[in-house]
Amino acid sequence: MARLQSRQISQLHLYQVLHSVRLGRGALTRAEICEITGLSQPAVSTLTRRLLETQALVEADARPSFGGGRRERELAINPDFAWVVGVKVQLHQITLALADFAGGVRNVLKVRIDTPLTQAALVRRLAREIEACLATAGGQVRQRLAGVGVAVPGFVDSLRGEVHWSAVLRATRGDRPAPLAQALTDALAVPVVVENDANMLALAEQWFGQAARLSNVAVVTLEQGLGLGLVFNGELYRGHLGLAGEIGHQQIDPAGRACRCGKQGCLEAYVTRFAVARQGQEAGLLPDGKLDADAIESAYAALATQALAGNAAARHIFETQGRLLGQWLGNMVSMIAPQLVILDGGPAIAAPLFEPALREAMAQASILPHRSTVPLVVCHHGDEVWARGAAALVLQRLDESAEIIESVSRHGFESESVGRRPDA
Ligand SMILES: [Zn+2]
Repeated sequence: MARLQSRQISQLHLYQVLHSVRLGRGALTRAEICEITGLSQPAVSTLTRRLLETQALVEADARPSFGGGRRERELAINPDFAWVVGVKVQLHQITLALADFAGGVRNVLKVRIDTPLTQAALVRRLAREIEACLATAGGQVRQRLAGVGVAVPGFVDSLRGEVHWSAVLRATRGDRPAPLAQALTDALAVPVVVENDANMLALAEQWFGQAARLSNVAVVTLEQGLGLGLVFNGELYRGHLGLAGEIGHQQIDPAGRACRCGKQGCLEAYVTRFAVARQGQEAGLLPDGKLDADAIESAYAALATQALAGNAAARHIFETQGRLLGQWLGNMVSMIAPQLVILDGGPAIAAPLFEPALREAMAQASILPHRSTVPLVVCHHGDEVWARGAAALVLQRLDESAEIIESVSRHGFESESVGRRPDA
């Protein structure tokens, strides 16, 4: 039992060192690692030696020390040590990105997809596209594939890897959630984690982005759906069944517009790009017709172009979108008190149309102390950020299940030595 405990402690400490270097954005000296992790100098010395032996870390350039003493060598993550694939599933498209051990994105591929699909069909398609993505990178990368992270829109229980509901999946099993992660793990023979897309973005912001070193952050995604990823006390908050943050499906009008989730009057049915394009059709500003995923994007852009040219009815639709979103963001700020709110607002073209109304409504809905102290950052991320989130998710999950050590071991680490206490 004592051996098991010391093994766990050792794993935790190895991960702490790796994590501190990864978040160090570049390279760190051993003294800096001590300071960040709180581990002793001998412990850090032992741990970094092990990580250097396995080549998870590499030595970077020496940094001159203050006072002219011995130059201290810096340590950096070895990007080629292991690879992860990040996948983002949308209604009309799958985006695949190959990321290295440091979270650097090396390759991004996009393929068309027609949804909804059965789980079996989605698994077959994803497995085929992931293998194709890896094949372009060479056999070495496939051998060193540590895991795959898949971002799925909808109600996702990431801890069990199950999808309760998603617009990309056809319901075939009644109310039972779809075990997507296990099916993909079986198909690919590597660990696969499945996560709600907004949670994945929150993790990307926490590990690599603007939320780094902040404890309480709300990350909002305005895409085909409206999502919320919450970082509470430094950790992703998932809640019961992993379903926290589904405030896009908060009901703002019980007799209101039908939502894809099966309810009526969800906020999402008013503020997403589909909802805005639909309102453009209803106002006679856009031609009638079915709004599939491609049509939504072009219709939304066409409506934005009209609004930017001064069309008052079109402007009103975007202002209403901004006001509703802002009101909700302000209520959320009052409820959870984040240090920062990040909104990934989709195409930048529409931002000047909805952002002023959004900021005003958000300020009005926030409690007074928050109005001047909780910044809102509106950004327009590309696909790379999802891959980074997937990289972070896979690496974090590998650690949680202690598989990071097995992953390290595969590349030459003696698993026996892991059992020793690092500070013994
Ligand atoms: Zn809904």
